[in-house]
Amino acid sequence: MANHAYVSACAPPKECLKALSTPLRFLKGVGPKRAALLETLGLKTVENLLYHLPFRYEDRRRVKKIHLASVGEDESFAGTLVFVQKKFIPRKRRHILLGTLSDGTGMLGLVWYNVPPYMANTLSRGQALLVHGRVEWGLGGQKRIVHPDFEPIEAGEETDTEKILPVYLRPGGLPLRTMRRWLAQALADYAPSLPSFLPESLTRRQGLMDLNQAMKQVHQPDKAADLASLNRFSSPAHRAIVFDEFFYLQLGLGLRRKHRAALEGIAFSSAEAQLTRQMRGLLPFTLTGAQERVVGEIYRDMASPCPMQRLVQGDVGSGKTIVAWLAALRAIESGFQALWMAPTELLAEQHFRNLKGFAGALKIPAALLTGSLPEATKKEVTEGIRTGMTSFIVGTHALIQEGVWVPRMGLGIIDEQHRFGVVQRRALQRLVHWHSAAAPTLPQPDILLMSATPIPRSLAMVLFGDLEISFLDEMPPGRTPVETKLCGERERPAVYERVRTEIQKGHQAYIVYPLVEASERLNLHDATRMAEELRLGVFREFQVGLIHGRMSAEERDAVMRRFKEGALQILVATTVIEVGIDISNATVMVIEHAERFGLSQLHQLRGRVGRGQAPAQCLLVHYEAGSREARSRLRVMEKEHDGFKIAEADLEIRGPGELLGTRQSGLPDFRLADVARDAHLLLEARSEATAWLADDSNLSRPESRAMGQVLLHRWDDRLELGAIG
Ligand code: ADP
Ligand code: MG
Repeated sequence: MANHAYVSACAPPKECLKALSTPLRFLKGVGPKRAALLETLGLKTVENLLYHLPFRYEDRRRVKKIHLASVGEDESFAGTLVFVQKKFIPRKRRHILLGTLSDGTGMLGLVWYNVPPYMANTLSRGQALLVHGRVEWGLGGQKRIVHPDFEPIEAGEETDTEKILPVYLRPGGLPLRTMRRWLAQALADYAPSLPSFLPESLTRRQGLMDLNQAMKQVHQPDKAADLASLNRFSSPAHRAIVFDEFFYLQLGLGLRRKHRAALEGIAFSSAEAQLTRQMRGLLPFTLTGAQERVVGEIYRDMASPCPMQRLVQGDVGSGKTIVAWLAALRAIESGFQALWMAPTELLAEQHFRNLKGFAGALKIPAALLTGSLPEATKKEVTEGIRTGMTSFIVGTHALIQEGVWVPRMGLGIIDEQHRFGVVQRRALQRLVHWHSAAAPTLPQPDILLMSATPIPRSLAMVLFGDLEISFLDEMPPGRTPVETKLCGERERPAVYERVRTEIQKGHQAYIVYPLVEASERLNLHDATRMAEELRLGVFREFQVGLIHGRMSAEERDAVMRRFKEGALQILVATTVIEVGIDISNATVMVIEHAERFGLSQLHQLRGRVGRGQAPAQCLLVHYEAGSREARSRLRVMEKEHDGFKIAEADLEIRGPGELLGTRQSGLPDFRLADVARDAHLLLEARSEATAWLADDSNLSRPESRAMGQVLLHRWDDRLELGAIG
């Protein structure tokens, strides 16, 4: 059996990293069965376990005497179980467990309903226990605690009960005590294998605690530690771990960026040539200041000989399409092809329809390439691209993967709407890799990414640390903001009436629900059930469609298409409606359980209406259960229409990973760090990483070597650093 315990702190990094990778079944006291249980939480290795930090701490430093117990307070008591009784209540079909704890000053009742067998077996008369929970009045005037947390006190440990105790998320059925024991074991055996290998000058400058010290402190805080800062994840120990996380990510991103800058790209001419000049004359409007600025930033990158990778962030409707089109023209007028990738066929078609007029006027051979084209047409189109005849191509990601060869590709535009986090830039990686694999001698094309998910500047700088970023932070003039109104559940009849009125005017409506299927526990209205209910009930004279994330892309596309064509008047949806989809006839959106959404998400959803001439409305239905806080949070939506400002408010209010939802946004899944909460640390880490790379651009100096190994260990699979070497 592998046993990497007791590696000394100065062991070579490789050995440390290997020890940390020890599967959990080898941790003393775990074994294969319970390792499988831990794996349900994604905890596979000792390292995973160590980074499974407490989500909360309990103050057990003050153990009270039972006669001083005060009803309504969370308190801890230590004593002996003087009475235990198991009871079965046939009517309710459940087991309850009753106990009495005595510490010589008084008696305290303990009650557990629905007792799991493992627990019933651990408690017996005479057992010394530390219990913790909310004191209440029981029957007969005895104070009691229902479902107390408890820990057996081992002989000789009586004085050791007064601690700050960590509380962990754990697999169902696993006692907290066991989880604590395993963590203590992991710390004892493996903490020495957890050096961060950060340069000493840096840790001193940043005032960072040693990583393995920090790890001990977060799992087993000193009795004197500040409970509040622990619970806010801002203790010095937390800070050290968070910094370490961020630093390595930034180091990885920095490397990626350096690597790219060293590659050979295309230096397009820096002056506007014929096509762009002609296009200016064709523009039906004047570009906004932001559009001009961003076009300038793109042109500057395109003129440079390094391959461009620039992300344009702009709110829905900020006019990204024309910006990207101007970039495409710059490539085309220099004799290259420009390829525009959209996430769905419908969006590809929409872009093509919008741009083909301009392409025609400028005599640019353009083509749309999607999977649903007839084979013969597809072949013809592919051929036109392959010979270099077609210089502007709009398509879906899928087609790129099929390997249509674009011999003179100068610019790739990826309109992915969101999902541009560092770990989800698959489309980009694929495009670039595919291109350079097929033609290693050709210069790398420039890439322009477009995202409709505004993210506050500071955050974006960091999350997209390896990209250049442009902010399209100004709306074209003359937009009427979507009228947004917060409604209570009881106002639903009126809400439905608004929907009906709009449809009777010939318009269409979206009704958005947070979930696909009913969840009893939360009592949420779900999309599937509600689509049925609305179809048969209040909206039975209308055509009601349904779209949700469990449907395949094709199924979703088909439903969207029917909605776009007007065959459906109402679309019941989860949050999957495409961000960029332009159905100008949809004028009203109802969002149910609005309190369940982040503000940014609500803003994104709202962006699907108000795209036409007619005024549009967004009705946010919130549930009474929602607190006053939730309501005042939602009120931001009534007043604010700027996506960047909303994102900032969201970040402030919701914090933890919720701004966009980790998965959707492609935020790297930090084990502990929280991008919103720890934004300042993130910036510090970024500047330290940048400074380090400025002196040692590929981590080749001896003092960087260990860091390089840690970096690969942590991020290689997600950042694909291996290729960078
Ligand atoms: P998005 O950033 O959401 O992709 P679009 O590029 O689709 O936005 O633009 C939204 C609408 O605004 C389009 O109808 C477009 O023609 C129009 N538009 C873009 N730029 C301007 C501008 N500078 N002035 C007026 N209208 C504009
Ligand atoms: Mg768009």
